[in-house]
Amino acid sequence: MAFATLAPMPILRLVIGSPLRRLFDYLPPESLDAEACWDLPTGIRIRVPFGHRSTCGILLEVCQDSEVPADKLRHAQEILDEEPLLDEGQLALCLWAADYYKHPPGEILNAALPPALRDGKPYSPAGVPHWRLSTKGLGLPEGAPERAPKQAQLLEMLRAQKALQCSAIQDAGFSAGVLRQLVQKELVEEFTAPPVVKQPTCEAGLALTKQQQQVLSAIDLQDGFQCYLLEGVTGSGKTEVYLQLIARCLSAGRQVLVLVPEIGLTPQTLRRFQKRFKANIGVMHSGLAEGARQRAWDDARHGRAHIVLGTRSAIFTALPNLGLIIIDEEHDASFKQQDGFRYSARDVAVKRAQNEDIPILLGTATPSLESLNNALSNRYQHLQLTERANNAAMPQYETVDLRGQALRGGLSPRLLQQISDTIGAGDQVLLFLNRRGYAPSLQCHDCGYIAGCKHCDARLTLHRKDAQLRCHHCGWQMPVHNRCPECQSSQLVAWGMGTERLEQNLAQLFPDTPVLRIDRDSMSRRGAMDRIYEHIALAEPCILLGTQMLSKGHHFPNVTLVSLIDIDNALFSADFRGPERMGQLITQVAGRAGRGDKPGQVLLQTHYPDHPQLQTLLGQGYGEFARQLLGERVLLGMPPSGQLIMLRAEANQRSAGETFLHSLREQACQQQLPGQCVGPLPAPLQRRQGRYRWQLMVRCESRPTARASAEQLVAIAEQLATPAQLRWSIDIDPQDML
Ligand code: ADP
Ligand code: ZN
Ligand code: ZN
Repeated sequence: MAFATLAPMPILRLVIGSPLRRLFDYLPPESLDAEACWDLPTGIRIRVPFGHRSTCGILLEVCQDSEVPADKLRHAQEILDEEPLLDEGQLALCLWAADYYKHPPGEILNAALPPALRDGKPYSPAGVPHWRLSTKGLGLPEGAPERAPKQAQLLEMLRAQKALQCSAIQDAGFSAGVLRQLVQKELVEEFTAPPVVKQPTCEAGLALTKQQQQVLSAIDLQDGFQCYLLEGVTGSGKTEVYLQLIARCLSAGRQVLVLVPEIGLTPQTLRRFQKRFKANIGVMHSGLAEGARQRAWDDARHGRAHIVLGTRSAIFTALPNLGLIIIDEEHDASFKQQDGFRYSARDVAVKRAQNEDIPILLGTATPSLESLNNALSNRYQHLQLTERANNAAMPQYETVDLRGQALRGGLSPRLLQQISDTIGAGDQVLLFLNRRGYAPSLQCHDCGYIAGCKHCDARLTLHRKDAQLRCHHCGWQMPVHNRCPECQSSQLVAWGMGTERLEQNLAQLFPDTPVLRIDRDSMSRRGAMDRIYEHIALAEPCILLGTQMLSKGHHFPNVTLVSLIDIDNALFSADFRGPERMGQLITQVAGRAGRGDKPGQVLLQTHYPDHPQLQTLLGQGYGEFARQLLGERVLLGMPPSGQLIMLRAEANQRSAGETFLHSLREQACQQQLPGQCVGPLPAPLQRRQGRYRWQLMVRCESRPTARASAEQLVAIAEQLATPAQLRWSIDIDPQDML
């Protein structure tokens, strides 16, 4: 029997931005010669029909077979790019992340593109306007036009140089008018060309301390993948180590990627980089305007950016010539995305360094237990800086026992005295209170009513300046009532203290000293942090007060007194990571003290001065504290000893999430899931934005069993019947138990 041999039709396998955890197959566009499609490069965008609409996918593979029957396959509509927008390394990293985090690959690849390109808009490479001679201009004899010597000179220059940027024309002394006249005569024309990037140069660095030298010489940039953990106390000169390492990498002609927790909060970091390097430094964060983002993306992927300084999502930036990755403040929770694609940029970065066979440096004063564990077990190379760089001493801790003390404006007599003394000595004070707003609740003194959020199981925070009650979980707000809605009493009492109230108290207590508040409310305007920095740089007495934002790597050389106003909440967290976070926070905030010439002092106000973990932290330092916590985690079988997976479900009905997670657990048990289930339990804040939230935690012994469990859990969840309103999600290596 003879078969007619049919050449197989190429199948285009695409990733499409949809919530489905799978790839999609299409036939070539009908308008195209199918044979030509075998040679399409991966990473280009293709427009395809998707359901009843059309969308844009990214080509992963051209293959011979599809699991979809041939008559069900649809034709793609249009090939959108000639050149790939995502290179092979990026595709591989994104697909690894999709598989590891069990997230739909399309959403991840989309996130690696600037927003405009996700919708299929044509890609026009970033360029800068240049001028050149037009055909008419080229045909002109030399020296013309004779009666306009300036114009003739400019034409001559363009003839010699082929193309000039506007700035170069100006620099050569030609007025805008000369250029305009040539344009009117159609002798010159404008076009865009890629920016010309000069070789990076570098200012001399500081003379390194012995410890810094040892660290720097331990890091090998030539020897492929290696992960280094740099554990260096606050002010030990980690940034100087980064800068000198970057200089080495740049002089070898490679690109460097630096991830930091938040760029807007630490304008200093960018400035230090700009001062040290005459180089193209691409800044990448979510607050960028669309044009700037695309330019930075473009510079990076064409190798024109020498350094990319970015937040979490910058880890997916294409860098063809990447030679080194640095993660500053690697312990910071902001590296883990808490919704949607719940990835850890730090962990993805380590994977990326491994894929590209390059070194990666994780730096912090307060390593996460995960990284510390990797260092102690020699998976990472452990580097330490135990002393401050500029001969500064480490700050001295003192706990202030609040029990039975008469407080003024939330401050103990001891703290008040220290603030006065510090200001009197001409120095600056930093006060930390991790609660914004005026007061965390408003209560009726007559009937006990407490203002609560309409949509969450949460109290409303009083923002007195705006006269609003605001929910810090969902953003809902309402004007402050004059009377209790339950009993009409006018005895409404603001209970507790937030930064707005502390600011007011301080202004009354220290009327002659400027008080600068740093929290999400006061910093919402652009450049607000810059203004604070300018003020601080005056080196005059002032009181800085703020939230978590103050803990992030700032260098305030004139702050000599730091106080954490209320650490009691942090001492008793329900989360198993609570103590670790507390240790990091206290150490980081304290680390802002005494970074200049004068020694620093840290006062901790608490009702629990004898708390054992606090004692360890203050007495023996974060390093010892963290090593003890690590021992406890091993006993509990909690990360980094053992792996966690969190399944969450939320719905408008109270128990729909619970029912769903119960069925999930039952089926998982039947299938002998290689992990141990805890739950379903209500989430700590059970109702949020009107939705009831439940969670099921799965604990696994090892990474391989965790990966197998995750695979199985997703497969089960995708098969389970879900009420229309129910949303479920999976979180691999969850950071927050909320
Ligand atoms: P970290 O990043 O570890 O908190 P920084 O890099 O901000 O520390 O350094 C703290 C201070 O010490 C800065 O003012 C920095 O200029 C200074 N410094 C760092 N290294 C040196 C050095 N080798 N010699 C003198 N001063 C240094
Ligand atoms: Zn009342
Ligand atoms: Zn709310």
